[in-house]
Amino acid sequence: MRRPIIIANWKMNGSREKNTSFLEHFLTAINAETCDIVICPPLPYLSQIQQSIEITAINLGSQNVCQYPEGAYTGETSATMLADLGCQYCLIGHSERRLIFNESDKSIADKFLLLKENNITPVLCVGETLQQRENNETEQVVLSQIDSVIHSVGINNFIDSVIAYEPVWSIGTGLTATPEQAQSVHLAIRNHLETHNSQTASGTRIVYGGSVKPENAADLFSQPDIDGGLIGGASLKAESFAEICNVLSSNAEVMH
Ligand code: PEP
Repeated sequence: MRRPIIIANWKMNGSREKNTSFLEHFLTAINAETCDIVICPPLPYLSQIQQSIEITAINLGSQNVCQYPEGAYTGETSATMLADLGCQYCLIGHSERRLIFNESDKSIADKFLLLKENNITPVLCVGETLQQRENNETEQVVLSQIDSVIHSVGINNFIDSVIAYEPVWSIGTGLTATPEQAQSVHLAIRNHLETHNSQTASGTRIVYGGSVKPENAADLFSQPDIDGGLIGGASLKAESFAEICNVLSSNAEVMH
């Protein structure tokens, strides 16, 4: 059985004061013992969040990592530094990084490997644009984003990583994939992993991201191949993020 996981992507939002208030409210509203919870704040706040969640079951994640191990890369943060700061997870390949910062499949694969070498779980984000969906290219795009990493790092390195399926057209737009649309891509990903290695296929957690809110979370999380969510906008409000976590957790209890 895969343990459900919910990941908050705060993007470039927050301040020391807002983060403290978020955690105060979140910790009182949360009741989610049957799932893993990860918070990915902006890099400057990693230490602040790490100290605040130290005695809780919440995990720390980063939104990005450098594709090089160390050295003269001004402004970058290495996987070793993230591990040193207590990060257990790191997003890679988010569509905002692929599209705004021109990240290539090669740099994403390099990041993936450095994270694994530092015992940080990569959360590989994949997803199609609206144009690609309308051209019926969704599966081809998503599977090739995954394959470019597998071919570079090897399927054995893929074990225990997390995949986030995030249709680009649904991120921050208020448009959510229907549970059936999301389930169909998640199943295609799992079936595809199966062609590489059955243990990886059954063990990999595949989460959905794209305008998940408390109102649509239950329907999405009840799908058999959706193992949780990557939450952007709705993770900025303690109450709504806690509600989404609680929905996932109670859903997991029902399924057990
Ligand atoms: C995201 O950026 O990963 C995301 C899912 O954002 P939102 O929930 O705001 O669509």
